Parts: sequence; structure tokens; C-alpha cells
Amino acid sequence: MSHALGHRLRDGGFPAPSETRKTGVVIVGAGISGLAAAWKLAKAGVDDFLVLDAESQFGGNSRAGQSPLVAYPWGAHYLPLPTRESTAVRELLAELGVLHGDPAAAKPAYDERYLCATPQERVYRNGLWEEGLLPHRGVDAGEREQQRRFHERVDELKETRGRDGRRAFAIPMELSSRDPEWRALDRISFSRWLTENGFTAPTLHWLANYATRDDYGMAYDQTSAWAGLHYFACRTGEAANAASDAVLTAPDGNAWLARGLARQAAGRILTDALAWRIEEGKSSVAVDVLQGAKTTRIEARQVIWAAPAFVLPRIWLAMPGELKHAALAGDYAPWLTANLHLADFPEERHGAPPAWDNVFYDSPGLGYVLATHQLIRRRLPGTVFTYYRALHDVTPAEGRRLLLETPREAWAEGILAELERVHPDIRRVTTRLDIFRNGHAMRRPVPGSLFDGQREKLVNFRHPRIALAHADLSGFSLFEEAQYRGIVAAGQVRSSASFRASASGQNGVRAI
Ligand SMILES: Cc1cc2nc3c(=O)[nH]c(=O)nc-3n(C[C@H](O)[C@H](O)[C@H](O)COP(=O)(O)OP(=O)(O)OC[C@H]3O[C@@H](n4cnc5c(N)ncnc54)[C@H](O)[C@@H]3O)c2cc1C
Repeated sequence: MSHALGHRLRDGGFPAPSETRKTGVVIVGAGISGLAAAWKLAKAGVDDFLVLDAESQFGGNSRAGQSPLVAYPWGAHYLPLPTRESTAVRELLAELGVLHGDPAAAKPAYDERYLCATPQERVYRNGLWEEGLLPHRGVDAGEREQQRRFHERVDELKETRGRDGRRAFAIPMELSSRDPEWRALDRISFSRWLTENGFTAPTLHWLANYATRDDYGMAYDQTSAWAGLHYFACRTGEAANAASDAVLTAPDGNAWLARGLARQAAGRILTDALAWRIEEGKSSVAVDVLQGAKTTRIEARQVIWAAPAFVLPRIWLAMPGELKHAALAGDYAPWLTANLHLADFPEERHGAPPAWDNVFYDSPGLGYVLATHQLIRRRLPGTVFTYYRALHDVTPAEGRRLLLETPREAWAEGILAELERVHPDIRRVTTRLDIFRNGHAMRRPVPGSLFDGQREKLVNFRHPRIALAHADLSGFSLFEEAQYRGIVAAGQVRSSASFRASASGQNGVRAI
């Protein structure tokens, strides 16, 4: 949510409701989790729901922009090949025609337009681009041996199961083993795990730190080792027509997935609709929603909260104390993204050719993704670079202050100077540079945060009329996690007593 709207929530002073509407289910938040809840409800034949989002576009962190040339992401930009456990991801991809054949197959075939074209990634280090993510140029034999051993360890962890028979690191994370032996990894940092396991090579430490910055917006020495290992070991998806490390992507990042989920909710998504109060009544919940200058009260039998957990205490004033504590227990990573519109492809440094993901080894930013990469067969008169930077090197509060107080021009100049190292004529070809500051982009999986009881309070919360969704319930933010939490919340709503009573007769809800 934009900072202006967030502050509006904090400052209050909303107009009293001037109109009342009724519906079966209100879903607050049209990010992946809210859209997934709507997708699941609609597929179960429930058509009496509304999805609200404070922004003017649905999709949350998976939103995209559009230039006359190409669409481009503002946040999420890829989906790894879905694992066997990611059944809902496979179901969605099959429905969208991107997964061909049996969605449960060990190695389904995927639509070539969404399989990331080669080269997938390259890294800029010591004045040269290298293919792949893990640097190999100038790396001595001892370090290469550690790299080999690390890959071997990751392959082992992919297969490892706890005493309960579940995979140690599954995605969605809720399906992972509950074996305390594996959960204990949440108590130490990822950097400590590496060192304790004899991994001291600088390139491996860089890779681990890159991974946690990229997926969690934070440094590896502040990240739970469980979360760090999850990044590497959960991804076991395979394809009939691609390598197992292939990812699915599109010019607009993951916005096509948001649109795919939203198809089922057509006509029921209200944007520019900020929920600012939730109050339980006797037989319904009232959600007060600011649209323009007026407030509409929506009375619903059920509410799914699919917006970030830390926002809820401001809106549901009667929220149970313990739940409130759990919602406020985590912190969020601040992020900066920028889209650079380029009139031409910039000059290249030596080494590997342009890839979809272009990573900087030693830089404040992570690098950039190329919006036109999948349009490989078209000759385009330019492109869009999406630049990513997690403010991982300061506290989240300091990062938010920097985001707010640093003028746009200073960010833009910093980004151009960073890119100039790898593309000397970047300033000449850039026709437009937009930046997006996201102060509370994603919940941070700090050591102890995944299995300390607070996150689980959000997961285990049950209320007759209010269900929680959002990736925050997983303790870190990924498409698979957000979709899973939305689906679980939809299931809770459908099995609630008030919903079943209404399903057996009232308007708008077909028997399910
Ligand atoms: C820079 C960045 C890059 C990322 N890259 C990837 C990636 O490549 N792959 C990947 O899988 N994941 C990525 N992610 C993670 C991404 O967050 C998830 O994939 C997913 O989009 C999260 O969905 P969500 O529904 O949990 O949350 P959100 O996207 O946070 O959606 C919540 C929605 O609630 C709305 N909202 C909040 N408060 C209110 C209110 N009071 N009233 C109404 N609406 C409200 C917000 O406007 C928002 O649209 C990235 C995230 C960021 C920030």
C-alpha cells in the first residue's frame, strides 16, 4: 500500500458511512493471497463476495506497469517450477494453459513463452559479466570444492525428510516437517549455519547473502537459517521441456499470475477502496471502506483479511490482544524498485551476454531484470530495466526513514551511477526513470520468527466471521505462500457455521 494511504490509516479522520451494501464475503487486499481466496471461492461456486484493494490496481506486490513498448514488473517477477506439493500453483497454471497435460505429473511441460529464455542469469564481478549466479572465474580449487560440496548438501536437503515423513523444506512452508531437529535451524542465522558447516568460501557467502536479500529483503546474517536453507532446498520442481533451475516469467513479472487468479473474480474487485474499520455485529461484520471522499459500509457474513498483518490492529479495534501482539511481532523489509525506460539497449561490458536477471556482485542494488527478455524474437526499439534494491544494510525503521526522506532525484542519481559501472551509456539511453518506495514490502524471517509461537498464532487463529490470509502467515513472502494462505482462508470461510447456514438457502451463494 502506498505510503500516503498507510499514513491516512494511521492519522484517521475518515468520513462516517453514507451508504450500506451487503455481501457474503469481503476479502480485504487484492494481492496474490486475496485473489487466491477469491479464486478458490469462485471455483467452489461461491459468487457472493467482494475483493477490496486500497490501490488503483490489483495485484499488490505482484503489480506491473505498461509502457508503449512493453509491460514491466513493480515487484514480484518470477515463479520457480512448481514442486509436487505446490498443487494449487499447478492447478492455476493448468487452468491458464501454461502447464500442459496432467497437473500432478512429475515433470509437466510448460508453455515456452513463460519458461525463462536463456541466458537466465549472469553476475557482474571484477569488471566482467559471468554466466550463472555463482561466480567461477578466478576461483581457486579449494573454493570450487566448497561450491561443489554446497550444491551436494543442498541436493541432500531437497530429499531430506523429518521423522514425521514430511520434507524438511517444503513449499508451501506449512507442509514442511515439524520435526524439532529441522525447526531448530530457525534459532540460528544463515551465515552461522554456513560457517558451522565448513562453508567459508567468499563466493558461497555472497550467494547466500544474495539469496536472502533477493527473496527476503535482508542480509543473511540476520536471516533464520531455516529460511535461508528453504530458499535453496524447497525448489524441487521439474519440467519435461526445461532444466530444473528454470523459472516461469513474463514481461510483466508475476502480474500475469495475479490476472489469472482475478479472472474468477471479474466484476467483484473494487480498487481505490481502503478498508479503515472492521466491527463485528450480531449476525455480520461491518467493513467501512473509503472510496474517493465517501465511506461505504459493507455488511458481510464473513471477512478474509488478505492485507499485511500489521495493518489489522489499526482497523479491527476489538482484535483479541494475543492476536494483536502476534500481528505486530514481526518486522517488514523496506524495498526500492525502479523502472528505467530505455530508448535503446545500452552498451555492454565484456563477458556473458545480457540475461533476464542481471545481478551485481558488489553493489547496493541486486541488479535488474529485462522486461523484453521473453520477447526474444521481436526486434524492439528499446527496453525496460527493473532495478531492485532491498535496504538490507540498515534497520527496517532506518530504511523506511531513508525511503521517505531521500528525494527522488537522489535515488535516481544513485541508481544511474550504479548502472553506469556496467552500462557506460545508461544515462544517454534512459528516457524515463520511475521509482517505487515500499516501506513494508515483506515480513522478515529473522532467527526465531518462524517457529517461536507468534507466527503460528496468526496461522491458528479461528474466529466465526474473520479469517486471515496474506503471505505474512508464512513469515516470508513468495507467490506460493501467498496463494496457499488465500486458499486456506477460503476453506475456513466455507466451513464456518454462518456460511454453511447461508449456503443452504440464501441469495447469492449457490449450494456447494
Ligand atoms: C520487490 C519485490 C519483489 C518480489 N519478487 C518476488 C518474486 O519474484 N517471486 C515471488 O514469488 N515473490 C516475490 N515477491 C513477494 C510478493 O510479495 C509475493 O509474491 C506476493 O505478491 C504477496 O502477496 P500477498 O497477497 O501476500 O501480499 P501483498 O502483495 O502485500 O497484497 C496485500 C494487498 O492488500 C492491500 N491493502 C493493504 N491494506 C489495505 C486496506 N486497509 N484496505 C484495502 N486494501 C489494503 C494492498 O494494497 C495490497 O494490494 C516480491 C516482493 C517484493 C516487494
